Amino acid sequence: MLHNYSIPPKTYFEIASLGYLLVLYLISFNDSNRERIRTYKLFRSLEINMLIALFVSILTYVFAYPELGTPIVICTILRTMDSIMCVMASRIFVVYMLEYVDSAKKFKWIRVFGNAIFGLYLALMILNLPLKFILWYNPDGTYMHGSLFVPIVFSPPVYYLTSGMILLIIRMRTLGSREQLSLSAASLITLFGTVIQAATDGAILLSLPFGSAGIFVLYFSLETADYHELIRSNDKLRIAEQDAIKANRAKSDFLANMSHEIRTPLNAVLGMDELIINEIGPEKIIDDSSVDRIRGYADNIKDAGHLLLSVINDILDLSKIESGKMEINEAPYTLHKLTDEVDTMIRIKAEQKDLKYIQQTDPSIPDRLIGDELRIRQIMINILNNAVKYTDKGEVKLEITSESVSEDVINLRISVRDTGIGIKEEDLPYLFGDYKRLDEEHNRRIEGTGLGLAIVKRMTDLMNGRIDVTSEYGKGSVFTVVIPQTVNKKLNDGEDESSLKKDKEAAYKTPDCTYLVVDDNRINLIIASKFLDDLGGKVETSLNGPDSLQKMREKKYDMIFMDHMMPGMDGIQAYRKAKEDPENLNPDTPMVMMTANALHGVREEYLEMGFTDYISKPVDINELKRVVRLHIPQEKIVVGD
Ligand code: ADP
Repeated sequence: MLHNYSIPPKTYFEIASLGYLLVLYLISFNDSNRERIRTYKLFRSLEINMLIALFVSILTYVFAYPELGTPIVICTILRTMDSIMCVMASRIFVVYMLEYVDSAKKFKWIRVFGNAIFGLYLALMILNLPLKFILWYNPDGTYMHGSLFVPIVFSPPVYYLTSGMILLIIRMRTLGSREQLSLSAASLITLFGTVIQAATDGAILLSLPFGSAGIFVLYFSLETADYHELIRSNDKLRIAEQDAIKANRAKSDFLANMSHEIRTPLNAVLGMDELIINEIGPEKIIDDSSVDRIRGYADNIKDAGHLLLSVINDILDLSKIESGKMEINEAPYTLHKLTDEVDTMIRIKAEQKDLKYIQQTDPSIPDRLIGDELRIRQIMINILNNAVKYTDKGEVKLEITSESVSEDVINLRISVRDTGIGIKEEDLPYLFGDYKRLDEEHNRRIEGTGLGLAIVKRMTDLMNGRIDVTSEYGKGSVFTVVIPQTVNKKLNDGEDESSLKKDKEAAYKTPDCTYLVVDDNRINLIIASKFLDDLGGKVETSLNGPDSLQKMREKKYDMIFMDHMMPGMDGIQAYRKAKEDPENLNPDTPMVMMTANALHGVREEYLEMGFTDYISKPVDINELKRVVRLHIPQEKIVVGD
């Protein structure tokens, strides 16, 4: 039998909004690339929910009439579904709003309470089906709803919308103006529709059409692709800003730390120097015991100076690694010589702290290897120094073993075990971070820059090795470095190298040589002159570029040492002027750059400019002698003491 269904006028708004919402759904259909954003996901579910709610509502008001022949059960289900979809739409709307208003989920209870209300509402709606206390149909087909209808069906959406709006007002300041405006407008519109519908006892169906209008507002203000892009780039900017702040803080911490690291040895230098001055006194009488004490102070100054230098070298090393300029230079070396050197160096430090130092090298490891001896030594010393530094009693043990990788390659395993303070498990991931010092509470009195392990890790990586740490807080740590090394099978390689080195290091004098040292710093001139005095011969000094040029016109020297940074004419300008000067008596005299500029690559730059060699300050006396030996005419060298 055909029924004459008619569309009641009160659903006209709903039909219209179903139409425009469908259009919106189609517009937003292709935005799948934006699904990742959580607000957008919620928006899409809101959109779909609203579409279904509208559809069910229209169905209800067109078909849910038993007089039209629709079975009473279907009518009841439709009416129940209509109500549930409406409440669900308001729930999703508020959850969506909370994503903006309370993204950090500070007001969790609002969500929990909202869910509980929804659960209760759902239970009541289901209970209503048999018990018929909210909405029902009489057997004669008349639709009824009880006095609980309005409170139960309309309270949840009104509660959701008002609580959402109250939170919106509370959190207004945390939102951007666009979010403030859009969310306020959308929730006000929706709330208005819902209240009208409730107030008219459902005679005017405005909650869904107004809710759909709210969705429109949201789509074109907060959910457009452009706005998402803007949010994303803002987020990136925020992260970049935070990173910059963090990096800046790390640098400040580093500077503070460095300042401390530099001040400590500097304090020793100045203090010891003061003691020497006092010891000599105005009468300048030095007895034997004074000489011993002065010698002791001088030794301390030397130690402090070396410590200072190692801090600066660490910084340079790290900057070299950072800029990708650290190179691994592989050459033949003898393992036992390397371990002997390390033994001597660490044993003294361990004994000074009353620690037992054990060094064990597996005798089956091939002694003659090819690799970067310097870097391996640096790694060993760094880890061992730490072990000694962070251990107060007990022992430090260095164990060197190997495993064969192929016929020519072994994995050299360097393992350092200590019975020191240990490292907390939660600190382990930060161990190799730059400038990272752990457990500062306990470490405050232990000197360190936090650079050592960062360097060790990078160097190990550069040599294709790996580093592992196991530690028990309060009991001790084990650092294990494994680095592949090539076995040196050529018999005389290493020997040649070291005998050559020995020859070069042999004591010699240059009694017939005359040197010129150019430096604007008088102390540097004194140091270089005294070092050169050791070789015999004559040393002349000059405090600036023009004066040195004049001297070069007056005398022929055997070697000239030139500082770089000098006021007025710098060392490079002086060098160029000297080369162009027709009256210069030293056009071919070896000229060595002697400078505190020790950054990576400067050596090559100076050599490219034409300087004969390069020595970095602080000047190492052996390095100075090596350079002289290399460039001075051989006939002027007298070997032997
Ligand atoms: P530092 O100059 O501070 O020693 P490192 O980079 O060498 O810098 O070490 C970083 C941090 O790791 C140290 O500050 C210390 O907290 C921890 N650490 C390193 N070695 C040990 C060790 N053997 N025992 C305990 N803690 C260690």
